[in-house]
Amino acid sequence: MNKVRSDIRNIAIIAHVDHGKTTLVDAMLKQSGIFRVNEKVQERVLDSNELEREKGITIMSKNTAISYNGVRINIVDTPGHADFGGEVERILKMVDGVLLLVDAYEGPMPQTRFVLRKALGMNLKPIVVINKIDRKEARPNEVIDEIFDLFIELEASDEQLDFPVVYASGREGVAYYNLGDDSKDLRPLFETILNYIPAPQGDADAPFQLLISSIDYDDYVGRIAIGKIERGTISEGDRVVVCRKDGRIEPVKISSIQVFRGLKRLNVEKAEVGEIVCITGCEDITIGDTVCDAEHPEPLPFVDIEEPTISMQF
Ligand code: GDP
Repeated sequence: MNKVRSDIRNIAIIAHVDHGKTTLVDAMLKQSGIFRVNEKVQERVLDSNELEREKGITIMSKNTAISYNGVRINIVDTPGHADFGGEVERILKMVDGVLLLVDAYEGPMPQTRFVLRKALGMNLKPIVVINKIDRKEARPNEVIDEIFDLFIELEASDEQLDFPVVYASGREGVAYYNLGDDSKDLRPLFETILNYIPAPQGDADAPFQLLISSIDYDDYVGRIAIGKIERGTISEGDRVVVCRKDGRIEPVKISSIQVFRGLKRLNVEKAEVGEIVCITGCEDITIGDTVCDAEHPEPLPFVDIEEPTISMQF
């Protein structure tokens, strides 16, 4: 039976470097009450990112989950650079919509164009966030015109062109539906995400299927495979199969399942269609493999693209 997960939204943020993504996500975390001031969050993220680079597995995407009014908003990070090639498609496969975050003074930059083009091509719904609206030089109306032109150039659909706009200052932790509105917090942004981004859905009773979009590594649990559940349900201890890109099918036992909470991962016993999960127990699983119900080894199609060059600066 088809299940709409109205308790979940899966989004990605597309932003040019310095347009305020980190500051905005921090403000969202703080307002959702998850962020603890003393936590050395940044350090932890950097550490594991360096580890990723050393191991040459992939460029890690920093995932976050924020709770708002009983809805879990999973935010997956996108590398903002064309050279990351396939990484972008993999990441975008997990989401149902994107926030295009643009500096209210600088306007859209060429580097965000590549990721935006992919997102529009994948039929994802965009929300435009005009950020740093507190800047004295802000020129929001012109910037919106520039974004509109960019959408036309990238051949956005009529529906995508009808994007909602939210004005924000991540630094001040406020968002507005309209210029000149009064606002004390980011509620207009949270509300727009809930109202405009479709909830993920799929068959919760069908045989389990999970496409691996990202790999992380942890000293204690080893390789962590990350992806969105396409259909079905998974529980800790389940015996499943991994369908490899090369056609091999390997039986494995799921040793743990985790979901994102704030910047951490939280163990859960069970997860269902629409959720972005991390699973452990599959030691040499790779990006593009599909984890399936043991009786239904049905791999999902995957565009195989070269791994990114690890020496890149970003
Ligand atoms: P990121 O590279 O997109 O993650 O950007 P950061 O969040 O690191 O922010 C880049 C710079 O912009 C920093 O110097 C921030 O202090 C500044 N910044 C971020 N958000 C705002 C904002 O809402 N208003 C203003 N005026 N500056 C901001």
